[in-house]
Amino acid sequence: MIQKNRDIVRRAREVKPGRRGKGPVIYWMDRDQRITDNWALLYAQQEALIRDVELLIILFIDKQQLTSPSIQTVFQLQGLAELASSAEALNIRFFILPGSAERELPRICKALDAHLLVCDFSPLRRKRQTLHELGKTLTIPIIEVDAHNIVPAWVVSEKKEYAAYTLRPKVHRLLEDYLTDFPKLENPPQPREELAHPFSNKEITHNLAPYLQMGCGGFKPGQTEAEKRMHHFITNGLDHYEQRRNNPNLAGQSELSSYLHFGQLSPQRLALEVSRSHAHQSGKETFLEELVVRRELSDNFCLYEQGYDTFQGFHPWAQKSLAEHRGDRRDHTYTLSQLENGETHEALWNTCQLDLVCGHKLHGYLRMYWAKKILEWTASPEEALEYAIVLNDRYSIDGTDPNGYTGIAWSIGGIHDRAWPERPVYGKIRYMNERGCRRKFDVDSYIKSVEKKYAEKFSS
Ligand code: FAD
Repeated sequence: MIQKNRDIVRRAREVKPGRRGKGPVIYWMDRDQRITDNWALLYAQQEALIRDVELLIILFIDKQQLTSPSIQTVFQLQGLAELASSAEALNIRFFILPGSAERELPRICKALDAHLLVCDFSPLRRKRQTLHELGKTLTIPIIEVDAHNIVPAWVVSEKKEYAAYTLRPKVHRLLEDYLTDFPKLENPPQPREELAHPFSNKEITHNLAPYLQMGCGGFKPGQTEAEKRMHHFITNGLDHYEQRRNNPNLAGQSELSSYLHFGQLSPQRLALEVSRSHAHQSGKETFLEELVVRRELSDNFCLYEQGYDTFQGFHPWAQKSLAEHRGDRRDHTYTLSQLENGETHEALWNTCQLDLVCGHKLHGYLRMYWAKKILEWTASPEEALEYAIVLNDRYSIDGTDPNGYTGIAWSIGGIHDRAWPERPVYGKIRYMNERGCRRKFDVDSYIKSVEKKYAEKFSS
């Protein structure tokens, strides 16, 4: 008899009870797109082994994205091509299906008499609403597994945390217990029969083929590349992380957020490798503060604040202060299109926008300055929030992430920050400007290097 592994089970929670069918366990893969180091897949595999039923992985891609994919979808699909081969090597059937989980899963679960539905966790509205709808239509149990946070978001805290200092002790108290090695992914029971259309492995290859040759800025997608970058950063960057991470000219960040966002790299794997490395303690501690505390704080904010991307999601003090400064005169205001095209009066900001549009990711320090200037140069905080989210989600490969919504809410709405001395437009929100950036790093050198990078790109 197979014993349930406690380390796997404690990362799961039941979304809805139900009657188990006789067919396969279905893992609806969404946020954590990898075969190894994936608690949701491990959970689904364990259930399949215990009940001696097949395990299927299904992932949905919006139909429109399959005809005109965004840069994010191209990055995702190329990662999925690698994932499909890894699944095949383990004899796990993996399907990429066009459409949405909400529409397709009820029909699929019924047709296959599915045993159980397992999904990975995301705090974002789309996923929460889909699970809510599936809860109403499916008769089988639905289990959600947090494969993205080291301590599951609902375990670390049951409420919206005020700031990093309130979440930090809660995470650290549980971290040693949860930061464990992953169990081995055993071969689940083998496929028994052919599945009817739309389940065909040929479909996957067919769907992916046109996108495999497209470029994704400076990022090569996939789990193999993510792990290569992780090891390169640990060996060459971690020792200097604390000193270099805030200087865009020094390439001091890990550049792993796109891989983490699509789940091509497990945050827990990264945290384990960093903790076990021989790098300086200060580099390790600073990096783990970002990767664990700040990242899990973002999930906490989006999970417990339904208005995470709205003005109403800001702290009451920030809403009040921004409202008091609504009528302040703005020296410059720009439309979304002017911002998108980098047509402001400030060369540094325009360069950031160029970097975002062409390189598909902006340096972490500059992201703060970039978003704060949008607050300063638009007609209202609501408009600023909307434009910052549109631009970040449209161009950044790691966009549409809790870190993005929280980072923008920090910049424009003071989330997880404190009140600062009052000034026009910003009210009590922390201010940043180009002069401040000049004190931190060589702004002209950054501008020159970005212009050079993309001039070469445009001329080639
Ligand atoms: P590193 O410095 O190498 O950090 C490693 C990892 O730690 C990151 O990949 C990330 O998972 C986590 N991390 C680092 N800084 C933060 C932070 N401030 N908050 C939460 N987690 C953090 N992050 C995204 O992943 N996607 C976004 O769309 C995004 N948009 C942002 C927009 C604004 C306006 C701001 C201020 C921040 C945003 N961030 C976003 C957070 C942060 O800037 C990025 O996570 C970081 O720059 C990613 O680069 P890296 O992987 O090289 O980071």
